[in-house]
Amino acid sequence: MDPVTQHRISQSPGIPRPSPTRSYWPVPPSNISQWGAQDVLPEKADIVIIGSGITGASIARTLLRELGENSSDVRIVMLEAREVCSGATARNGGHITPAWYHQYPELVKTYGKETAHEIIKFQVSHVHKLLSIAEEDGLLEDSQCRLTDSFDAYVDRTRFEIARENYTEYRKEEELSSLHQVTRLYEDKEQLQALQLSSSFSGVIGTVFGTMHAYRFVTGILSRLLKSHTANFQILAKTPCISITAASSTYVIETPKGTIRSAHIVHATNAWTSHLLPGFRRKIVPLRGEMTSQRPGTGLGFGQIPPSLSTTPSSSSNWQGSRTFIFYTGGKDGIFDYLTQQMQPCKVSSASKYPLPRTELMFGGGLAFNPELFCAQLGNTDDTQSIPELSTYLSSVLPCYFGENWGDDAESSEEDDRLNWGKGRTKASWSGLIGLSADSNPWVGRVPASLAEGRKLEVDKSQAGLADAGEWVCGGYSGEGMVNAWKCGAALAHMILGRCECPEWLPEPYTVSLERHAKAKLDDVLQSYI
Ligand SMILES: Cc1cc2nc3c(=O)[nH]c(=O)nc-3n(C[C@H](O)[C@H](O)[C@H](O)COP(=O)(O)OP(=O)(O)OC[C@H]3O[C@@H](n4cnc5c(N)ncnc54)[C@H](O)[C@@H]3O)c2cc1C
Repeated sequence: MDPVTQHRISQSPGIPRPSPTRSYWPVPPSNISQWGAQDVLPEKADIVIIGSGITGASIARTLLRELGENSSDVRIVMLEAREVCSGATARNGGHITPAWYHQYPELVKTYGKETAHEIIKFQVSHVHKLLSIAEEDGLLEDSQCRLTDSFDAYVDRTRFEIARENYTEYRKEEELSSLHQVTRLYEDKEQLQALQLSSSFSGVIGTVFGTMHAYRFVTGILSRLLKSHTANFQILAKTPCISITAASSTYVIETPKGTIRSAHIVHATNAWTSHLLPGFRRKIVPLRGEMTSQRPGTGLGFGQIPPSLSTTPSSSSNWQGSRTFIFYTGGKDGIFDYLTQQMQPCKVSSASKYPLPRTELMFGGGLAFNPELFCAQLGNTDDTQSIPELSTYLSSVLPCYFGENWGDDAESSEEDDRLNWGKGRTKASWSGLIGLSADSNPWVGRVPASLAEGRKLEVDKSQAGLADAGEWVCGGYSGEGMVNAWKCGAALAHMILGRCECPEWLPEPYTVSLERHAKAKLDDVLQSYI
């Protein structure tokens, strides 16, 4: 890594900058996007959650549900620097794609078989967990949370052969193969053609995972919490936390609107974690990525797909909106592009208050194809600017993946013109910040004072039926938040409630400890990318 990048990643990421690039997902915005922006800051709370993305939403929902009848005794305030849910959750790729055969050998090598299985089971369980939360909160329509045929497509022959070996080993583990309804290997030319992929691919490995509109999922959950807990749950948009100091029995949280005191602070700020927790510099590092939303044109999705190639029963000859792809294009694990697709308008019921999706292709990646470009994104927190090289790459590479099936351009609609989306194939291109963890795993738990500028309360005894007072962190999903954040947030909520030191279903390597902190070296994880 060059000295300029070294220097940048050792600095504070700052607080989120106003006016980030315009992402496809929060258009139109939720009716809570500016919630509480004009409200007076309360003087105190029992728990302050900083950050309103999927992590903050999971923590708030779990706390309030677990407290049940006693929830009105505990006042929770959520602070958000910009609009509600305007970080990575509103700017991502929408994939619910857990670790499986691909990551298995490395996980076994690092943690042993038992823990490797735990991590994979934890991540895979998010597919159904997110679906069940969406269902419970009446958000299946708005969030479009659904199962999809999920394909890993390999260009490089050697890389595919390694993947096939890993897949074979993975399938031998009954505990793991039983997690999947179905898994498939596609390597004949005809099979690849039937998947509408170009002839440049060597092989494909498929199963069923999922996709969702994370912005609507999260804002839908927060809206419900605001309605059902009017007296004790408050969100303040456009209220950044600038600094924290420890007084005798509460922390003092400073914002431009004044201060709020609380015995518990939850850092759900992901890529921005180390601004308020400098001990996490070089442990959770911002990594700027780029996403696009593209019109599918006339060819994709209309091939005759033999049912034997589909992994989900719902797939028909028109596969639009029912597939996700990871395209492995280079030699290193971190080099891939990812594609999912919005649903067909005819498949969405009128129960959603949002405009119909238009089968937009949601396509991101390209991040690691050039080491210099990758380094320039490390520690770069400017999501108010797109990354021109990546935007150009993402807007031009899909025809190479789909060959002649890519088809001709489709016209932009009146609605697209009204919303001021781009013309041609690419509707929008925007950047967002990944929280890259120095050992690839999320960080979940109580923050030791030494990682929080030495802040420590003089009196930290438990109050309001919660755990002893303190600061808590949950983040660093390394671009895999949809298969980690929900249950990591729920685990942290259990810890704050003093139910346990750590729920047994949270993988041990995810927990915060000074020993782990000392061992986690960013340079090790960067080997997958550069
Ligand atoms: C381009 C891109 C593509 C991705 N694609 C995928 C994908 O396809 N699948 C997947 O699983 N994951 C993906 N991810 C990762 C995933 O989106 C994240 O892991 C997840 O959304 C993190 O959620 P979060 O709530 O922890 O953080 P965020 O959603 O980033 O929320 C943090 C919030 O904290 C606020 N905040 C920060 N500092 C402060 C402060 N000082 N005061 C007040 N508020 C503050 C921010 O404004 C923000 O709203 C992608 C990420 C990016 C950037």
